[in-house]
Amino acid sequence: MDINKKFFAKHKIAIVTNRAPVSPITRSNSTIIQRSIGGLVAALEPLIGQFDGAWFCTVSKTSKLAKISLDHLPYKVIPLELTDVELAKYYEGYSNKQLWPLFHYFQMHCIFDKDDWEMYKAVNERMADLILRNVEEDHFIWIHDYHFMLLPKILRKRNPKLKIGFFLHTPFPNQEIFRVLANSAELIQGLLGADLIGFHTKQYVEHFINCAKMLIPDMDKELNQNILIYNGRKIKVGNFPISIDYEYISKKASSEKVVKKSGKLRAAYQSEFVGISVDRLDYTKGILERLNAIECFFEKYPQYLKKVTFLQISVPSRTKVDTYQELKRKVDETIGRINGKFSKNGWRPIFYIYSTLAFDELLAHYLMSDLMLVVPLRDGMNLVAKEYIASNLSSHGVLILSEFAGAIEELKDALHVNPYHSELVADAIKQAIEMPVEEKTLRMHHLREKVKANDVYNWINRYFTSFNEIVQENKKSSKVC
Ligand code: UDP
Repeated sequence: MDINKKFFAKHKIAIVTNRAPVSPITRSNSTIIQRSIGGLVAALEPLIGQFDGAWFCTVSKTSKLAKISLDHLPYKVIPLELTDVELAKYYEGYSNKQLWPLFHYFQMHCIFDKDDWEMYKAVNERMADLILRNVEEDHFIWIHDYHFMLLPKILRKRNPKLKIGFFLHTPFPNQEIFRVLANSAELIQGLLGADLIGFHTKQYVEHFINCAKMLIPDMDKELNQNILIYNGRKIKVGNFPISIDYEYISKKASSEKVVKKSGKLRAAYQSEFVGISVDRLDYTKGILERLNAIECFFEKYPQYLKKVTFLQISVPSRTKVDTYQELKRKVDETIGRINGKFSKNGWRPIFYIYSTLAFDELLAHYLMSDLMLVVPLRDGMNLVAKEYIASNLSSHGVLILSEFAGAIEELKDALHVNPYHSELVADAIKQAIEMPVEEKTLRMHHLREKVKANDVYNWINRYFTSFNEIVQENKKSSKVC
């Protein structure tokens, strides 16, 4: 699959994300710019790099990125510089202490602070100013994620002719949870400024429409369609499951460099069976629950002691937020405790890497593993699961997937588990280890077909086809009026 070149060659795109698509790294006294880590940047860069595009993001005024020139990049990066106070309130505060926990059903981690909301509004306004100074009316403006939920309305108010798309990368919770927010109606109104609102799953679409119906009484909905009518405009709501560059990943995973590296890694782990997990160190990912499941597995099935090893790769994340610091302490302690309990004669049940790996390195780890445990307590989609599938060239790997990851709607041939129950996860690990090779191959074959057919280019093309359709429809009806 490829990007719809015909469409994008004729249209200008502006992407808006909180995180910059590039980050500086210093190596032997010189600073170079590299692509930022993360699924979103990996998904969007092929689009913006090939065509006439601009990327709006935020940067800290005191960061290295704010001090270096971004002029030589293949696309325009236009950063909104924020002070430490602005970042503390808009990003660490409202975005990550209210929206993020609530959208993942972690109400107990929410800290409701009115000043954070005020700053969130102010930063959304400032981002609108920056965008309006730099885009033209014919740009397709594609806003990403929960940091900018007010932006569609602000932009629409200032220029009703703009083409505005929004995509949420987290879950959208049900109305009982969503209305816990003091500003729930304002957030929905913010999104209704868009032409198209995209989510990963049908369930998130349903939740959003229910919330909008409840909170915005003067909004209408077209019968049997996910089209809302508000302020005389149509707003389409749809599910577009994000994906990965399947061809690129499978090709890279089969390269000599990655295959060699994976062989070396596998030898180093000295176990008959290796299971892997890769995630940002975030409470939504269910890392502690998974460690408990691993402990339960060795307790219940001691025949696998010295035969099975698990590798937990944790990417540092939001390290300034207290909850994340606390989680890191608990994960360190739990791994230490489990290793202390079961380690014997040089064999260890859990290896732990707390770092960000380069992509080649990450693929080598996927390739050498027999099993991947993707067991978040709640996750918008989970791209790591799809990357594991794309790099599983032998088709002998088994994916254990949480019922609460958005990926569950597509990845039906994984072993599905409820991550809250350690014994069920422990049993799924045993099932994966003992699964006949024919079943492993068949399941993985179906998973690979699925991810291949709906790769990242398909995601972009589907989104923009809908985006363009609704823009044209609104254009037509505004002419008629
Ligand atoms: N990732 C990476 N290096 C690492 C660990 C993760 O590049 O050491 C990337 C991984 O390839 C994936 C992304 O980080 O594309 C994580 O995306 P996912 O949807 O699984 O979770 P998120 O972090 O967005 O919640």
